[in-house]
Amino acid sequence: MTRRVGLIGGMSWQSTAEYYRLLNELTHERLGGLHSCELLLHSVDFADIEQLQVAGDWDTAGERLASAAVGLERAGAELLVLCTNTMHKVAPVIEAAVSVPLLHLGDATAAAVKRAGLDTIGLLGTAFTMEQDFYRDRLASHGLDVVVPAAEDRALVHRIIYDELCLGVVREESRQAYGGVISRLREAGAAGIVLGCTEIELLIPAGATDLPVFPTTRIHVEATLDHVGIRQR
Ligand code: GLU
Repeated sequence: MTRRVGLIGGMSWQSTAEYYRLLNELTHERLGGLHSCELLLHSVDFADIEQLQVAGDWDTAGERLASAAVGLERAGAELLVLCTNTMHKVAPVIEAAVSVPLLHLGDATAAAVKRAGLDTIGLLGTAFTMEQDFYRDRLASHGLDVVVPAAEDRALVHRIIYDELCLGVVREESRQAYGGVISRLREAGAAGIVLGCTEIELLIPAGATDLPVFPTTRIHVEATLDHVGIRQR
């Protein structure tokens, strides 16, 4: 008997759609037949959340997501998955509001990096994720050294996330611009790159760079299935 997953998504819905697709696709790969993933989804209006991010009103954002989490728990979710790296800034608020576990994306990502045998990684994500402590510290707490791009590159990576990827726009020019940022992270010592924003893997698919990349949506989905007992037969 597997446990029911509760997704807090919509941040943006472009990557939440990937979570939904991958949770079902990998459940089928692992269990075969007509198996799919039993889940609940609370999808927010990202425009509201983005305004709170820009205003730095993380308290209100945390309350909104905690209330979504409580609703999912009441509806029968046994494991919560927050489908965004950035909003893990308020993970402690969500965790305090429910009694079911939240599968932290930073922990799942760090575990994947360590399994690959790397200890110095470059981090791409929103400005919040790259510049604030909450995510870098979570990775560092697992013994990883985290390198972030320089200011100009951080601004570029952030702009492409909000102005393009969250709107479903995938441009070759932006892929090349990310390639440049990744090369500079390698020069700064990164042995691998964490795609620490759940939309980035829409732009940088597996095998697109010669450094190992860690796509956080896929990693989170795989860890979720492991946790709920959907394992390769
Ligand atoms: N999905 C993104 C992330 O993983 C960015 C959008 C958001 O702010 O949630 O950080």
